[in-house]
Amino acid sequence: MSEIKKLEILGVPVDMVNMAQAAERLEELMRSEGCSLIVTPNSEIVVNAGQDSELMEIIRSADLVIPDGIGLVYASKLLGSPLKERVTGIDFLSWALDFLEREGKSIYLLGSRPGSESVPGVAEMAAIKMKEAFPGLKIAGTHHGYFSKDEEQEIVDDINECGADFLCVALGSPKQEKFMARHRKGLKVKAAIGVGGSLDVWAGEVKRAPEFYRKHGLEWLYRLVQQPSRYKRMAALPRFMIRVLLSK
Ligand code: UDP
Repeated sequence: MSEIKKLEILGVPVDMVNMAQAAERLEELMRSEGCSLIVTPNSEIVVNAGQDSELMEIIRSADLVIPDGIGLVYASKLLGSPLKERVTGIDFLSWALDFLEREGKSIYLLGSRPGSESVPGVAEMAAIKMKEAFPGLKIAGTHHGYFSKDEEQEIVDDINECGADFLCVALGSPKQEKFMARHRKGLKVKAAIGVGGSLDVWAGEVKRAPEFYRKHGLEWLYRLVQQPSRYKRMAALPRFMIRVLLSK
């Protein structure tokens, strides 16, 4: 496997990759044995990992740690080893969908709000939109993200029985990372990725920030305006920057 340099940010080893390198790494992981773990930490997840040793251990043992968040890019500059670019989980997922389509491989979507009699669930809706964007993509199956621990094995069995090659887990952090780590050995998929709210975006439930915000590293501001209830979570960003400064 090709060597990827890592940068430790508050104890979290982040892979110093741009999109092309992350993509290349995914191709390698899809060819390797067992279920590889891909995580997409932002500054909030890095701060949480400092207080949650299980989450920290999972990130440290992941096969690809993508720097998803402008906070990580700023932190890397402060630490004197600038990350090449911010690789958002959602952009990486789009690349992965394209790759899976080209390779004839299938994806299973797990997470987000369940459907009702009149409205499809977010994962089902995301699957429809993904098929529109990547007509050759095989959707192995979908399942919503509101289940109990007792139901987990049944879901893992379903993922395996569908013959899915790639698993997309959208349960929010740290739920998604812990789910993937707990079932890593029992999963037959080649790789699993935690994608936070990406299925909501694919399904059209949440709008992604327009180009201007993305280009200027202001996606967090757009999300704050769209979902003001997230302000407490966003307060993690300045806290994170101060900790990085102190850790220098
Ligand atoms: N979610 C879920 N099960 C849960 C809690 C959350 O499926 O028990 C879903 C939720 O519906 C949303 C996603 O997990 O689709 C979390 O999104 P959030 O925006 O919090 O993730 P972030 O991208 O900020 O990590």
